Amino acid sequence: MLNPSLKLPKIVVLGTGGTIASSGTVGTQLSDYKVGKGVDALIAAVPELSGVAQCEFEQVSNIESYLIGDEVLLKLAGRVNHWLAQPDITGVVITHGTDTLEETAYFLNLVVQSEKPVILVGAMRPSTAISADGPLNLFHAVVVASHPQSVGKGVMVVMNDRILAARYVYKAHTTAVDAFVVPEQGALGAVSGRDVQYFNQSTRIHTARSTLHIDPQCTVLPAVDIVYDYQGAGLHMYEAALQAGAQGIVLAGTGNGSLSGVARLGANLAASKGVAFVRAAHVGQGSVRPSVKDGEYNCVAAQSLNPQKARILLRLALLKTQDRASLQQIFNTY
Ligand code: ASP
Repeated sequence: MLNPSLKLPKIVVLGTGGTIASSGTVGTQLSDYKVGKGVDALIAAVPELSGVAQCEFEQVSNIESYLIGDEVLLKLAGRVNHWLAQPDITGVVITHGTDTLEETAYFLNLVVQSEKPVILVGAMRPSTAISADGPLNLFHAVVVASHPQSVGKGVMVVMNDRILAARYVYKAHTTAVDAFVVPEQGALGAVSGRDVQYFNQSTRIHTARSTLHIDPQCTVLPAVDIVYDYQGAGLHMYEAALQAGAQGIVLAGTGNGSLSGVARLGANLAASKGVAFVRAAHVGQGSVRPSVKDGEYNCVAAQSLNPQKARILLRLALLKTQDRASLQQIFNTY
C-alpha cells in the first residue's frame, strides 16, 4: 500500500530556541523557565503534524532570542536559503524566541531568495505551562507553510491564530498570548486548525524580489546602534556609538521622529563622520515620513519601521550604499 505521508508537502522546521522550547518545573511557572527542548521534541509533541506535512528538522541554535546575534542570524539565513533551494521542500518553519522574533523575521524578509513560505513561530508560555500556546502555534505554522496560497507572501509570523507580515508585525505585550500585532496595516490572514484564510497583502518588496540579499560568505554586517531620545537626553550616547565605530545610528525618537536639540547635535556629529542617521520613533505606530529638514541634518526617515527594524534595514542597506538619497529610497521601498 502506498504510504499516504509521501503525498504530503515537505516542511523543514528549524529550531532556534525561545520559550516555545522551554520548560518550567510546574504548570504555573510562567517566567524563569529554561530553554533546552530540541526541535525534534517540539515536533514529536504535536503528532497531528504527521497528517499535514512530512516534517524534517534542523537545530540551528537553542537559545533565548535576546541572545541571538549576527552569527546565528547569518547562519539561519544561510540554512533557510539552502533548504528552500531544494526542489522537494515546500516551505520552512522557524521556532524562535519572541523577544527578537520581529527582528529575525524582517531580516529574513529581506535576504531570503525564494517565493516559498517562511514562517516564524514562538510561544508566550513554556511547554510545561497550563494552556501552553506553543503546540497549536507550531501546528498552525506548519499548516500555513504547507498552504499553496502562502507562496509569494514574504516571511510571515504565525502566532495566536493570526498570520502576520514580517514587515509590519511587532511584539506589543510582555506576556500575553496575543502579544504579536499589526494594528495599523492588519493581519494578512487567520488560521484555525487546518483552515487558512488570507484577506490582506503586504505591499513592500520582500524575499525573491529584494535586492538586499547577502553574500553567503558574509560574516559581518555593518554596525548600527539605536539611540533612544527622551526629555533631557545627553549627547554622550551618540558620541559613544560613534567612538565604538557605528556606521549608522537609528534615532528612537520622540513623537513623529522629532529631532530634539540633542538629536540634531547627534545627527550633525554623525554627518561629520560620514555616518548614516535614520529618524525613527519609539511611539509604536504610524510612519516617520521624509521631512524638508532631512537634507539639512543628513537624515533618513524610517517610514513605518520601528527602531529595531529600521536598524535591520539600515545594516543591509549600508552594504549597498551610504548615499542619503539612495538610503531614503530603500526605506521608501522595503
Ligand atoms: N525569552 C524568550 C525569548 O525571546 C521569550 C520568548 O520566547 O517568549 O527567547
